[in-house]
Amino acid sequence: MLGVRITVGDACIGCDTCQNICFVKAITLIDKKAVISDSCLGCGRCVSVCPQKAIKISVEGIANLDESVDRIKSLVDVT
Ligand code: SF4
Ligand code: SF4
Repeated sequence: MLGVRITVGDACIGCDTCQNICFVKAITLIDKKAVISDSCLGCGRCVSVCPQKAIKISVEGIANLDESVDRIKSLVDVT
């Protein structure tokens, strides 16, 4: 199974930029640090806007990507 994980590191200064761009409101500031909730959809927008580069995105199960693509292809019309 492919999973996207978003994590916030110690470089976060609580500037609020990520919170403002998150369209599902998955980010809250606690003690001036960004905290990502389970509502996160892994879109990566917050990663790209953070001025501190404090947010990291990682993909788990990337080794099975070909298998996932094959499964999707079997379910949809690919043109
Ligand atoms: S944009 Fe970066 S530095 Fe600012 S609150 Fe979010 S994680 Fe922290
Ligand atoms: S990855 Fe997207 S959905 Fe998740 S916290 Fe960042 S902006 Fe919000």
